[in-house]
Order: sequence, then C-alpha cells, then structure tokens
Amino acid sequence: MKILVAVKRVVDYNVKVRVKSDNTDVETAHVKMSMNPFDEIAVEEAVRLKEAGLATEIVVISCGSTACQETLRTAMAMGADRGILVETDALLQPLAVAKILKALVDQEKPQLIMLGKQAIDDDCGQTGQMLAALTDLSQATFASKITLSDGKAQVTREVDEGLETIAITLPAIITVDLRLNEPRYVTLPNIMKAKKKQIDITTPLALGIDITPRLTTLKVTEPPKRSAGIMVPDITTLIDKLKNEAKVI
Ligand code: AMP
Repeated sequence: MKILVAVKRVVDYNVKVRVKSDNTDVETAHVKMSMNPFDEIAVEEAVRLKEAGLATEIVVISCGSTACQETLRTAMAMGADRGILVETDALLQPLAVAKILKALVDQEKPQLIMLGKQAIDDDCGQTGQMLAALTDLSQATFASKITLSDGKAQVTREVDEGLETIAITLPAIITVDLRLNEPRYVTLPNIMKAKKKQIDITTPLALGIDITPRLTTLKVTEPPKRSAGIMVPDITTLIDKLKNEAKVI
C-alpha cells in the first residue's frame, strides 16, 4: 500500500510571527522555517503504518519554493521513502494545492493520502477537504486514531462533543489532529541516509494546474495589544467589577 503525505514548509511554531510593515502579509524573510507540525504527525503515522507492515511506500509532497526540499528531507529522515517537490515561487492558496495534489494522486494512485488538519501559517484547514471533493474519495478529518484493515480505515475523529469513530473505504484522505501521535526526533544517521533518497521536481505548469489565487488578502494586522491587568484586594471587589464594570456575570 502506498501512502502520500503532504508536507508544508511554514514559519516555525516557536517563532513570534510579525506582520509586515505594509500590512500585506506576515514577515517570512530571515525567519526560521520548519515542517508544519500537523504534517509531522501525518508523516509519523505513515512511518508507523509502514513499520507495522501495513504500508510499502511513503511518498511525501511539498508545494512551494526550492527551500521546501529541506522539509522533504526532514520527512525522509523520519522514514518517508521519496519526495516530490512541486516547485513555484508563486503564492499558493488551498485550492491550488488541492488541485496539485489531485494531479499527483492520479499519477501515484496511493491507497491513503494524509495531510495536516491545518497549516499553522494560513490556518485555512481547507486543503484536505478540497482534495476529497476534487478526487471524489472518502475523507476523515481531525483524526486522533487510525486503524487499517480489509481495505478500510477506522478513524477516531476529534469533534466538539468528544470523539467520533467512523469507517471509510480506501483509497481515502485523512487529515490528522494533534493527539494522533508524538513525532519522532530525526537522528543524524537518518538525516545522512535521507540525503541519498530521491526527490523528483515538477511544477504546477508541468502538471497542467492553474494556480491563480482566487482570494485577495485585503489586510493583515497584529491582534490588539492586551491592556495591563489590575490587582483587586478581595473576592467581593472582583465579583463587583465582573458584574458592574465588565458586565460578564
Ligand atoms: P491548510 O488547508 O492550508 O490549512 O493546509 C492543510 C494541510 O494541507 C497542511 O497541513 C498540509 O498537509 C497540506 N498543505 C497545504 N499547503 C501545502 C503546501 N504548499 N505543500 C504541501 N502540503 C500543503
């Protein structure tokens, strides 16, 4: 069974994101970049499925600039077998990425396609669902447990009320949530081994995909600064302020 995993290069989750001075986007120049944390979880799960003898090949895909090769190498150091870079310096929105992934699903014919539930830079949470619509494949989103057997995936999903377990038929698309697993650290020997693994490079144009953005970002702004808190002398004053000033109780 072949598994495809989509891995996005994003601003590292430890970086305090700053808005560009012209309010057009967030600053990404000279900022540490890493694999989207949810995509690391997706790669980890794919590697565990391969280690359990349930998968034979893991192909990782990243769409973006040449630097996304680093992200693919990290995924390969975790255990993925080969990578595909869909290279472009153009802005990619979820629909464009979903169309690219659809073209690669048609080429590679995987049984399972895994994505993060959302990319921590744009917070869209759309690509997996759009890919399911474009490919007409079954989907399970926000997975916190995945069990494969008899051409089916049993997926436990994190929903507002708790957990929901569903069964879907493979081939299928699964987007993964935080509690699915804890990704392994990559070791130096595996980083060295990953350097020898294959990365095929293509472009949206070569795949025949129109990546023209459909949405226009009007403005990006910092969240409002929190005003300083005050100390109250006792509970009675606190309750009085909550009732009469903040009017929240
Ligand atoms: P989003 O819909 O942008 O929140 O992204 C959801 C998921 O889609 C991510 O966690 C990735 O698995 C995948 N994805 C989004 N953009 C890219 C990209 N440029 N390259 C590879 N995978 C991507």
